[in-house]
Amino acid sequence: MASASSSEPICWPASADLTPVADTGRPADPGGPLVVVLSGPGGAGKGTIARILAAADDSIGLSVSWTSRDRRSDDADDAYVFVDRAAFEARRDEGGFIEWNEFLGCYYGTPVPGADDGQVLLFEIDVAGGRQVLQSDPGALCLFVDAPDDDELRRRLVDRGDGTERADTRIVEAMRERAEAADLGYTIVLNADLDRAVREVAALIAARLATKSPR
Ligand code: 5GP
Repeated sequence: MASASSSEPICWPASADLTPVADTGRPADPGGPLVVVLSGPGGAGKGTIARILAAADDSIGLSVSWTSRDRRSDDADDAYVFVDRAAFEARRDEGGFIEWNEFLGCYYGTPVPGADDGQVLLFEIDVAGGRQVLQSDPGALCLFVDAPDDDELRRRLVDRGDGTERADTRIVEAMRERAEAADLGYTIVLNADLDRAVREVAALIAARLATKSPR
């Protein structure tokens, strides 16, 4: 994970202060890294966007999730920590995840961040995970990366190795996630053109950082 440009240790807030700030009415900024949640259907490109941003900027760290699903042929070596269900449950039961979910029969979880995870920490997780993150960090920036339409999404899913049946299941799931993301106030980023989507996400992060209290 990329480390912070500052030498100050970054600590994950153990419990966020939800007290409204008197003059803004917004929750107090708990400090620590800006958490950016990237959700969206598989195949929409959120992982690619996250990797490009993290590679381009040392102050942006990428959280590596744990999963109990089997490795796919297109998974990068560091896409996940791949474990069996028992190892996942053991880590979960000792409080090792800040959020976790079961998706299409497999566990996914975000490890509790370390002290040197960057000024910005990207979580590539589903909307149910985003909901849990917002509960502990209401200042998290939640972005829903989507494909331009479902035909394109199906094509991308099949191309990357999902069978047509699993692709269809994922498209139904994507419809449900879109509704939940809208309910949570996610900002939508349409990924029709990768360069443009990366620039859009970078601009949203910069704008949110500009309003965040210095650490
Ligand atoms: P995939 O199997 O395509 O890699 O991921 C399936 C879904 O799980 C995607 O929506 C992905 O964003 C989500 N996901 C990946 N890691 C995590 C995680 O740590 N927590 C949660 N809640 N969802 C995750």
